[in-house]
Amino acid sequence: MGELGFMGMMVAPEYGGSGLDTVSYVLAMEEISKIDASASVVMSVNNSLVCWGLEKYGTEEQKQKYLPRLASGEILGAFCLSEPEAGSDATSQRTTAIDQGDHYILNGTKNWITNGGTADVYLVIAQTYPEKGHHGINALIVEKGMPGFEVGLKENKLGIRGSDTHSLMFTDVKVPKENRIGEDGFGFKFAMKTLSGGRIGIASQALGIASGAYELAKKYSKERKAFGTEICNHQAIAFKLADMYTEIEAARLLIMKAARDKDNDDNYDLSSAAAKVYASKVAMDVTVEAVQIHGGYGFVKEYHVERLMRVGQELPDSTMEMEIMAGSVKMDFGVKSFNKKVVAEETINVPAGTYDCMVVTEHTETKMMITKKTTSKLWYAKGVGLVKQEEYNKKGDLVGLTVLTNFKD
Ligand SMILES: Cc1cc2nc3c(=O)[nH]c(=O)nc-3n(C[C@H](O)[C@H](O)[C@H](O)COP(=O)(O)OP(=O)(O)OC[C@H]3O[C@@H](n4cnc5c(N)ncnc54)[C@H](O)[C@@H]3O)c2cc1C
Repeated sequence: MGELGFMGMMVAPEYGGSGLDTVSYVLAMEEISKIDASASVVMSVNNSLVCWGLEKYGTEEQKQKYLPRLASGEILGAFCLSEPEAGSDATSQRTTAIDQGDHYILNGTKNWITNGGTADVYLVIAQTYPEKGHHGINALIVEKGMPGFEVGLKENKLGIRGSDTHSLMFTDVKVPKENRIGEDGFGFKFAMKTLSGGRIGIASQALGIASGAYELAKKYSKERKAFGTEICNHQAIAFKLADMYTEIEAARLLIMKAARDKDNDDNYDLSSAAAKVYASKVAMDVTVEAVQIHGGYGFVKEYHVERLMRVGQELPDSTMEMEIMAGSVKMDFGVKSFNKKVVAEETINVPAGTYDCMVVTEHTETKMMITKKTTSKLWYAKGVGLVKQEEYNKKGDLVGLTVLTNFKD
């Protein structure tokens, strides 16, 4: 894949990449994922998380040192954010990078790292100033072979088994300061911005899985006969295929919108999250239907569709994307968040200020969105919610309130 230019598709030619845009990358990801989503996830992490992050935020020295080898596939990269106690809640980083003047001392464990065993370059997110919360996090480039860095067990996964997923352990690893990406404390923003692009890659992977399954199901339905005719002539099967096609096309358009936003330098935090949420669901639904259309043959390994169903079910952290979407909206508008117990019927008291929009959430689910601009301290939810008002009438209900403003704090 390196020889074919797939490992650094969006990297500029001066750093050894193919110099293509995100739309081209999406097209390649879809085609490869139709056949092998393990190969495409390796490609996705290398392209959208590691190469893109380095090229966008790295120093000239870092780019010169790592990008040509990463883009050619000579070496692989890994992106290390998740931890045993920090998955969806990425701010709870326990890995520490203690500032020692000209270097950091890195300690901690990372989990679920794609390319964990095979990579040579690891972008590791770690906490330097815990008291500063997400402003105290750094992103460091760690190389395989640095003393104190160990690769842990390979995960035994349901799908994409051809991609290696490992835990990583860091014990007093000395990382030179020149390996930090961006300013001191930039690590969390680096991770969030990089993950936005990563979502376009994973959405394209989901799209490929879905369209691969759809193509197999369509072909099979034209070959397999039951009750004297090809099964595609039975309406129950034709309706399934029509729904599958429609969902896939909708996912493709969302992904292309996100890719175009990125290529146009527009904000793509929200469009990439929306694309990933939707495409992941489509992959799950379409692969199940594809197995169903294959009847009993869908259940055996000779037919590729069983494998696509397993990978379609396992797309990482897709269940979390509602929260990520909310997070992306926050980035667009600036945000004030707080938790509030509802103490009076239909009235929610928020701090004084001018708000363009308020989103009321319960866990990750958006329950109500109010868009009336006001300077009032009181927001009246009655009649403007997306859900029935009675659901908010119980005294003592705990809801999360996220107030979106045009003014950054
Ligand atoms: C195959 C694979 C590859 C991966 N590759 C990488 C990688 O290369 N680098 C990396 O850093 N990470 C990687 N990950 C990790 C992935 O990003 C995490 O799995 C993801 O962030 C979710 O974290 P978690 O597994 O700890 O689940 P948790 O955060 O513990 O979530 C568990 C469940 O609780 C739900 N949940 C969590 N918070 C809330 C909430 N506020 N409200 C409602 N529900 C909630 C979640 O939706 C989920 O259903 C990979 C994961 C997989 C499976």
